[in-house]
Amino acid sequence: MHETDVCILGAGPAGATAALHLATKGIPSLLIDKAVFPRDKVCGDALSGKVVNELRRISPELPALLGAQQEALPSWGIHFISPGGQKLSVPFKYDYRPEQDVPAGYISKRVDFDNFLIEQVRQRPEVELWEGVALHKYERTAQGGFVLSDKQGQPLVQARLLLVANGAQSGFTRHVAGLEQEPEHYCAGLRAYYRGVAGMDADNFIELHFFRDFLPGYLWVFPLPGGQANVGVGMLSSEVSRKKINLKKEMLQMLATHPDLKQRFANAELIDSIRGYGLPLGSRKRVISGDSYMLLGDAGALIDPFTGEGISNAMISGRWAAAQAAQCLEQQDFSAAFMRGYDKAVYNRLWKELRLSRQMQKLLKYPWLFNQLASKASKNQALAETISCMFNDIDMRQRLRQPSFYMRLLFN
Ligand SMILES: Cc1cc2nc3c(=O)[nH]c(=O)nc-3n(C[C@H](O)[C@H](O)[C@H](O)COP(=O)(O)OP(=O)(O)OC[C@H]3O[C@@H](n4cnc5c(N)ncnc54)[C@H](O)[C@@H]3O)c2cc1C
Repeated sequence: MHETDVCILGAGPAGATAALHLATKGIPSLLIDKAVFPRDKVCGDALSGKVVNELRRISPELPALLGAQQEALPSWGIHFISPGGQKLSVPFKYDYRPEQDVPAGYISKRVDFDNFLIEQVRQRPEVELWEGVALHKYERTAQGGFVLSDKQGQPLVQARLLLVANGAQSGFTRHVAGLEQEPEHYCAGLRAYYRGVAGMDADNFIELHFFRDFLPGYLWVFPLPGGQANVGVGMLSSEVSRKKINLKKEMLQMLATHPDLKQRFANAELIDSIRGYGLPLGSRKRVISGDSYMLLGDAGALIDPFTGEGISNAMISGRWAAAQAAQCLEQQDFSAAFMRGYDKAVYNRLWKELRLSRQMQKLLKYPWLFNQLASKASKNQALAETISCMFNDIDMRQRLRQPSFYMRLLFN
């Protein structure tokens, strides 16, 4: 059996980021994934500006390295299509200049982006990477820490500290940390890859469509390198059950019948099977650590409830988990009480945004307000600029919580 101080379970963005930050601190870790990289992950594949920032924090040259990859397409903004059919176009940066500016975001298939991170991991001698190893049993040892075993019950690893980053279906999260899936705070999502979708934006704006009959769900169309597109839908699991919705059927029907989309998809070809996966939302605070463990990324339910963005939050949690692990090793304190420093750091950074996004998610109950916002912003440059700034400035975004913002919107 392999013995280690720090074991990281799952080598997606959360686990890989934690391993890289630990390596920078000179702390060895064992990083284990059941898959062999490059591996696919069901996702919208959109990498926000927060992801670029987290890459920079790992190493200053990483954003440029990502930008130089053919597999990463720079994106300059978002088109929101309101339930009334108005298009609200919001650049990530007002007055952007694609030839000169550093892109605020990218779209890159996860098979490529996650492998990009793993390539960084492979260059670090401090990280031992095990691929193709699935762990299923977690037993506490008398001395503290865990023994991890495979499906057959064969013990493989003994670790003093466990960083749990094995995604939305983490057995550890459910059985050891005791966090259940909550349909009110969980989203169901589908992803399809297409080729030949017409009418994609010249500056690779991503598209979010909010159809009246599909609210509070949404459909996305994101451009990808090589003329492909990532197309998908997401909806709160509680609504999927309440309305007994078949997401795949709904998605294909919207693509085939919506007046605009049916033309754009008339000659498009589905190039992979349509696959689904869950999104554990960070719309509720949870306890994300305990004796000798921390929950990272989707295993700790940190996805933004309005945008569905989870990669950056996974990386942020990976960074803070590495910082906490360093303190635990230094102080030789792995107690639940000490570990709470991790929860505090993660929520200090993310809670303001997560809470706001929860409120914006609720606004989808009022499609007329959304229509009004889209219609006014398309005619009013100052308002369009304000909304654009909201992407980068959380204090600006707080204005969306104030009733006065909507009063001015309706009566100006
Ligand atoms: C349909 C959909 C669309 C989305 N769109 C976006 C988007 O456009 N932008 C965005 O930012 N976020 C998006 N997300 C969310 C994003 O995919 C996740 O938040 C992100 O992948 C979380 O990273 P992670 O490292 O926590 O987990 P993951 O990326 O899921 O990585 C977990 C890793 O753990 C491994 N693993 C699992 N079980 C075990 C085990 N027992 N033993 C060993 N290894 C194990 C897996 O193989 C995997 O490599 C979307 C999610 C879905 C489902």
